[in-house]
Amino acid sequence: MKARVIKSCLAYLYGSGAINEIGTFCNDELSLTGKAILISDPTVWTIAGKQISENLMHAGFEKVESVFVKGAWKSEVDMIREKIRALGATVVFGIGGGVNMDVAKAAASEENINIITVPTIFATEAQTMALAVFRDGYRPNIRPILGCVVDTDIIKQAPWRFQAAGYSDFMGKTSGIADWELACSRKKEFTQNFSGIFGYELAKLQLRLLHKYAVAVKNKEEKAFDLFLQVFMIDGEINQLCKPGWNWGTEHAVARGLEDCVDVLHGEAVGISTILMTCWQGGDWKNVKKTLETVGAKVTAKQLGVSDDKIINALTDATSWVKQRPNYYTILHEKPLTDKTAQFLAEMTEVI
Ligand SMILES: [Zn+2]
Repeated sequence: MKARVIKSCLAYLYGSGAINEIGTFCNDELSLTGKAILISDPTVWTIAGKQISENLMHAGFEKVESVFVKGAWKSEVDMIREKIRALGATVVFGIGGGVNMDVAKAAASEENINIITVPTIFATEAQTMALAVFRDGYRPNIRPILGCVVDTDIIKQAPWRFQAAGYSDFMGKTSGIADWELACSRKKEFTQNFSGIFGYELAKLQLRLLHKYAVAVKNKEEKAFDLFLQVFMIDGEINQLCKPGWNWGTEHAVARGLEDCVDVLHGEAVGISTILMTCWQGGDWKNVKKTLETVGAKVTAKQLGVSDDKIINALTDATSWVKQRPNYYTILHEKPLTDKTAQFLAEMTEVI
């Protein structure tokens, strides 16, 4: 197998009240001190940013500067880079959701300084993945995350919509795995380099656990909620172990056509796409739908706030999109969706 890089997060601080120990964590575990830039937004600043700033100052950081970002744009990264240089910062903290963390990761990586992530919601794997997604196509190489601070009190208080979306994104592995199995059974050339039996089995285990504990997670029962968060925390590494492979299936191709709407979260689009594609694959889509409903995730076009036509277009566009990707082989290569079959599929699953 060709050599490749697998990036991991070096250390986690996890549990109740974690942000009150962030300064000690930086000093004692990461040997971090000096000057810090905290990236957040007005809401996140109130929830966690201010407290983190005070804690770091108390732990002996020379200076802590706070910056609010407006979106995942390269211009925002450039603005932070200037601040890093002006301050002589040694570390950037990305606090909040995917956008704040992605901007922090990109700016810190471009300036070769350390990155700490502090998720306040769990809707994507942004907190530990050495990857940042920008709407303008900017794709910087991201350094490994030095530390990730998960304060379970803060996450539990976050609007449930975000956790449900994160859960839905995970369910995407159902159709992702099925697509991968299909590609292997057809002996596609790119599957010969597959080295991820371990990751593949772990992914199936993740899915089993998430189905089993859906009710307990929704009720925020401590052990089940910990399970959900910890599964999420290590997911970035699992995905890398399996590359290229099942961590991306047709559900993500379909979701592309839904998540460009203003008020649709990535995971929400993936959840609905997973119901559709699992059905198209002949899998147990009813079980996927049941689990998503159990955790309070969105399962219809109406709940997602998109028109029926949008769903049909996402399905047919995904068919042409996957065919342009030579390193993937999916159900849509064998059973392309037309307007007519897409309509049938969406109605059958009661997505529309
Ligand atoms: Zn995803």
